[in-house]
Amino acid sequence: MTGLFDSFQRHINYLRISVTDRCNLRCIYCMPPEGVALASHGEILSYEEISIVAQVGAKLGINKIRLTGGEPLVRAELSKLVQMLSQIEEIDEVSLTTNGTLLKRYIPMLKQAGLSRVNISLDTLQAGRFRHITRLGELRDVLYGIEAARGAGLDPVKINMVVMRGINDDEVLDFANMTYKEGWHVRFIELMPFANVAQPVSSSEMRQCIASLGKLEPYLRVTGNGPATYYRLPGAEGTIGFISPITECFCSNCNRMRLTSDGKLCPCLLADGEIDLKEALRHNASPQELERLFLKAVASKPERHHLADGIIPMTQNMFQIGG
Ligand code: SAM
Ligand code: SF4
Repeated sequence: MTGLFDSFQRHINYLRISVTDRCNLRCIYCMPPEGVALASHGEILSYEEISIVAQVGAKLGINKIRLTGGEPLVRAELSKLVQMLSQIEEIDEVSLTTNGTLLKRYIPMLKQAGLSRVNISLDTLQAGRFRHITRLGELRDVLYGIEAARGAGLDPVKINMVVMRGINDDEVLDFANMTYKEGWHVRFIELMPFANVAQPVSSSEMRQCIASLGKLEPYLRVTGNGPATYYRLPGAEGTIGFISPITECFCSNCNRMRLTSDGKLCPCLLADGEIDLKEALRHNASPQELERLFLKAVASKPERHHLADGIIPMTQNMFQIGG
């Protein structure tokens, strides 16, 4: 077997990099209302350091990178990092997960720097509700961002909706309808219990609800590297995906590692056991030593998370590890 494999023979080729834990929104399920303590510039990895880690991963078998946060677009000159990462020979794709509010402004630079694709988080199509869920944002900025990304040809733009019972679950059909009206590629995400804001809605319940619009046909051609399962409504241009961390554990197909903005390499979103690369980087570790640490983190990937059993790791929040 060539490539990078963990102890459970899963092929690891994907690195999610959180570039900041700051955000310009305060989504009720993700961030405290007051935001997070500001890390000083020296506490987070520089773009050069991130690039070194990516090069080490690339040598070992990583070929896809996603930038996330916090909100990645609040970090200055993100397109510089996109350019540095997309120039690494083994990296085929650099993509971005964003709340979309700043996307319209930055999309031309990001595209020029080599960005391949973008996922945009949006939990409601109602302006008042958007302000409630994000505490700070304006819906129209995200809609402009979606249009800008689609206009720039970053195809497919995926729209991620976290579904919360009693808060936005009455909009599941509205989002599903956007696959007809606007050709959106929508992904419904089961809420993970990091903050006590609402009960999750299971993917099977969402599928039942959407079935009132037509039969959901399995769809296998969506580009992506993640845990979603995809469907399409009859005659729709867009697709519908479900990400079900709680009710349909996808760990057996996990292909990813995560790097936090302060340089921790995490083997799993939902388990402890990170390895500190910042210390090594700042003590001039050789490429061989960084490779050894990277392999150690890969080898420590757990077989599965235990969310369904109510076990939630406490060391990192979603805004720190990047979702
Ligand atoms: N700020 C960017 C954004 O919102 O897309 C990137 C970071 S955010 C932490 C990444 C993803 O994690 C978003 O799609 C967000 O909706 C999702 N997320 C955050 N907290 C979550 C939770 N408790 N359950 C499920 N998804 C969550
Ligand atoms: Fe910010 Fe994204 Fe978390 Fe919302 S989900 S608070 S946009 S990091």
